[in-house]
Amino acid sequence: MSCFHLEEYVDLQPHNTFGVTVTARYFFRINNTGDLEVLLNSSLFHENRYFILGGGSNTLFAKEKFDGIILKNEIKGIEILSEDDNNTDLRVGAGVEWTSLVDYCIHNDLGGLENLSLIPGTVGAAPIQNVGAYGAELSDVLLDVEVFDMNTGQLAKMSKEECKLQYRDSVFKQTLKKVMICFVTIRTTKALFHGVDAGNAAIQQVLRELGVSKPSIRSVSEAVCILRRRKLPDPKVTGNAGSFFKNVVIDEALRHSIKKIDKDVPLFLRPEGLHVIPAACLIEKCGWKGRQIGQAGVSASHALVLVNLGGATGCDIVCLAELIVRDVEFKFGVLLTHEVNIVK
Ligand SMILES: Cc1cc2nc3c(=O)[nH]c(=O)nc-3n(C[C@H](O)[C@H](O)[C@H](O)COP(=O)(O)OP(=O)(O)OC[C@H]3O[C@@H](n4cnc5c(N)ncnc54)[C@H](O)[C@@H]3O)c2cc1C
Repeated sequence: MSCFHLEEYVDLQPHNTFGVTVTARYFFRINNTGDLEVLLNSSLFHENRYFILGGGSNTLFAKEKFDGIILKNEIKGIEILSEDDNNTDLRVGAGVEWTSLVDYCIHNDLGGLENLSLIPGTVGAAPIQNVGAYGAELSDVLLDVEVFDMNTGQLAKMSKEECKLQYRDSVFKQTLKKVMICFVTIRTTKALFHGVDAGNAAIQQVLRELGVSKPSIRSVSEAVCILRRRKLPDPKVTGNAGSFFKNVVIDEALRHSIKKIDKDVPLFLRPEGLHVIPAACLIEKCGWKGRQIGQAGVSASHALVLVNLGGATGCDIVCLAELIVRDVEFKFGVLLTHEVNIVK
């Protein structure tokens, strides 16, 4: 195959924020859609399984070998697609780091992403689980995505509606798994139209500490960064992939039974009217916060975050996650689901 981006037996430890050791049989960097076309015309592609990798910040490799092709999305570029008095639309390469995009927006006084500051990973992965934090989600700003169909080699544009973005979910996690997102288009706001969302109590508290009375997108971004650094372990220091489990959306019957078991379990209401229980609270109430088994552990500062304390394997972390799921189900009758993508 005439493709110079192909590497063999590549150590993926620097490519996953859990920092687990795993060797990829083949590793292929995608810089443009032409690279994908070359790949699709090769026998190598048809003889092997593949996995699309961005920054590896929401991925856990369960085994020490990945006997297939890792497709590392490195499509770059931030392009102004259009602008008027109110908005600027940006078309962004899927391989751009999310934090670089947020920095670009803050630097150019473009609003909409400030509450999503400091989320690791790439722009192309953001629609996969509709990244969200501090009351904001990608769905607030997304216009469309351009995808490459790995079965047919066709390029297509998908509207936000077609992406079916929901709480940490999308069509890409459900029925449309064989596409690579190549570009993402978002709509940002211009200075006079920023809807600065400092309504979140935690953000307000930090803004007070900073002495900010009139929040700007920059000060909200700074507050979010401070909050995140206080709460979440830095993957450069302690391997982790952020929240390992999703918060639990519950119906009325489950709400009653959980309140009978423990009336102190907090509930919050999502904008679409669904009750949600913080999974961290259930994990903490089962005594897991700060515990470790071997080198795999539960963060002492956030019970939703599983950590690699040094030398844990993917399998160690998967086993720990299974124990937690079992305990929470036994105590509360709630089945936790993974937010992190486990590659077997
Ligand atoms: C410390 C920390 C904090 C975090 N905080 C948050 C948070 O606040 N909110 C939040 O939502 N998430 C959070 N995360 C999770 C993670 O940052 C996001 O899910 C991010 O979008 C993952 O990007 P990535 O490029 O690293 O994805 P990867 O881990 O590389 O991939 C994730 C999934 O997306 C698929 N994928 C990746 N790129 C593409 C593409 N171009 N086309 C098709 N499929 C693709 C992969 O196959 C995989 O299934 C956090 C993670 C860490 C480590």
